[in-house]
Amino acid sequence: MNPKFKSIAKLLQKFPGVGPRQAARFVLALLDKPESELQELGLAIQNLKREISFCPQCFNVSDNGLCGVCHDPLRDKTKLLVIEKVTDLDSIEKTGLYKGLYHVLGGAINPLDGITPQHLHLRELASRINALTTDSTVELIIATNPNTQGETTALYLRDQFDNQPSLTITRLGRGLASGSHLEYADELTVKHALDYRK
Ligand SMILES: [Zn+2]
Repeated sequence: MNPKFKSIAKLLQKFPGVGPRQAARFVLALLDKPESELQELGLAIQNLKREISFCPQCFNVSDNGLCGVCHDPLRDKTKLLVIEKVTDLDSIEKTGLYKGLYHVLGGAINPLDGITPQHLHLRELASRINALTTDSTVELIIATNPNTQGETTALYLRDQFDNQPSLTITRLGRGLASGSHLEYADELTVKHALDYRK
């Protein structure tokens, strides 16, 4: 195989879930695109870190400073929904049914991959809970994925924040199949999971 082809395929394999065969398919698809589109993509990647950053409060993606959700004065500050990834946040936002705040953990506890609680945005979560509960009772909605890592993380969160005054903890779950991923759930499923949290 052409060494240039091989090297770009190798770079693409660094993305989550992309194996050698799919990477090769991506390179072929890119070769099919007009030059202008490739340049647009190249430029977008080059500027990615300058133009998109993470919200310092909830770790959602943001243009600059606080994200749209944290910026919105109409969001319900008595609800804080904890998710693993920004893509999970998008799944819930798309339903338009949730009006509270979010906190993106940046992953789930997975000792096999070396991801411990220290790798997640938990210290920031603790200080947000402290700040939000000074004014009112807050519901912490745990919406980590219904798989082993997500459940481990949910247990850890309950353990950490169970005795926190003015905080009730609920778990999003019913309707989401065990082992599934929030980011791939359809809107109706997410709606059920939100409605029937416990
Ligand atoms: Zn934010």
